[in-house]
Amino acid sequence: MSDCIFCKIVAGAIPARIAYEDEHVLAFHDISPQAPVHVLVIPRRHIATLNDLAPDDAGLVGAMTLTAQKLARDLVVDGTGFRLVLNCNADGGQDVFHLHLLGGRRMKWPPG
Ligand code: 5GP
Repeated sequence: MSDCIFCKIVAGAIPARIAYEDEHVLAFHDISPQAPVHVLVIPRRHIATLNDLAPDDAGLVGAMTLTAQKLARDLVVDGTGFRLVLNCNADGGQDVFHLHLLGGRRMKWPPG
């Protein structure tokens, strides 16, 4: 198995609180939440960074975004605002390709 921690969660080798799953996408609650709602939406297939996406992955990225929309509807209180975060590479604050869904509090900009 890959050393990737999120691949281990996909394989069930590391436990996670699953929020949503289907054939292509897995969503689970962040172990160290930065907001009352903080969910990681990831592709089941390992994709290291945003730069590794190919044109054929457009449907996958769309599915991840729609998963975030559904989770925001289900988990963020009263349909208030939320934020999707896509970090790319170390200077972007990223370890593994994933979408963050943050909600349940007032978001600031810039995030710091
Ligand atoms: P990054 O550092 O790539 O921007 O974010 C990785 C995110 O994954 C962090 O918010 C971190 O808290 C979360 N994370 C890291 N390891 C685990 C884990 O084993 N389980 C869960 N649920 N979240 C994790």
